[in-house]
Amino acid sequence: EAKKSGRAHYVVFDRDLREQAEARLRIEYELHTAIERRELNLVYQPIISLESGKIEGVEALIRWNHQEHGMIGPERFISIAEETGIIESIGNWVLQEACRQMAEWEKTLGSLTPPSIHVNVSRRQLLLPNFCRIVTQAITEHNIASHRLHLEVTESMIMHDRETSIAILRELKQLGVQIDIDDFGTGYSSLSCLHEFPIDVLKIDREFVANLNQVQNFGALLHTIVALADNLNLKVVVEGIENGEQLTLIQAMGCEFGQGYLFSAPLTVQRLQDFVCSTTEFPPSNRNPTSASS
Ligand code: C2E
Ligand code: MG
Ligand code: MG
Ligand code: MG
Repeated sequence: EAKKSGRAHYVVFDRDLREQAEARLRIEYELHTAIERRELNLVYQPIISLESGKIEGVEALIRWNHQEHGMIGPERFISIAEETGIIESIGNWVLQEACRQMAEWEKTLGSLTPPSIHVNVSRRQLLLPNFCRIVTQAITEHNIASHRLHLEVTESMIMHDRETSIAILRELKQLGVQIDIDDFGTGYSSLSCLHEFPIDVLKIDREFVANLNQVQNFGALLHTIVALADNLNLKVVVEGIENGEQLTLIQAMGCEFGQGYLFSAPLTVQRLQDFVCSTTEFPPSNRNPTSASS
């Protein structure tokens, strides 16, 4: 009896594995041409000053609008792109597109342009020998002030090969771009080596916020991280703020910036434009969302 069901289990498992492998191969195959087919696009999630409520920047997040399967999120294809090397061309495209969009906003939105744009960089991209040149090219081609571009790297990425990563980050910082540590607190970097990294911003992983009410330790940890960041002159962005209760706790800790569904989900270009036009401090008569359509 047990043997039977055991075997049946294996059959199912086998088929699941094969289906998974096939799905993976399909994604890999189709990713190769996704750029040419113009199926990739970026959405932008606002980063908000928790003191003024103003938009401090946007994070560019990739989406794959597949001709048959519809919208595919990055969790389903970024790791495949990374393992196969396709991330190199996708990453280039993301950088180019983010900078192009920033230049377009400067024309159409003027002073309402988000002050900064944050672009996720994968490990393989960061280690490309010509990565600095690629970044330089993107900012010069679109004439972006370099300090407005933030590159987001994760702590595990830089902990993996510390010396090399630090050297690359230094070189990038010389271009004037800013470096964010993404998903901070989830990797295994010790707080004590944080000062060695040439970075500007700590983005605290949304796990911290999610556990803030339930687990006492998370509050204490967050508090410690914020104090340390302050000491090292780093800005803090807290990710994944979903409700007012969380916001109150986070504000009480003196966190400067936040990102999350409470403020806004990632937005299309059109919707981001509506967002920045409706959250200014200008009196309503000065708002004219339709005058700046792209
Ligand atoms: P990330 O860089 O940490 O981005 C934040 C993720 O959290 C986004 O998921 C965002 O939609 C989601 N998020 C934002 N606010 C909330 C919230 O309040 N609650 C919850 N539950 N989630 C929230 P998304 O867009 O699916 O991206 C997932 C990950 O994929 C990103 O995590 C990033 O690591 C990677 N990624 C996205 N775009 C790119 C890209 O252009 N290049 C690379 N290399 N990786 C990317
Ligand atoms: Mg990110
Ligand atoms: Mg993150
Ligand atoms: Mg993440």
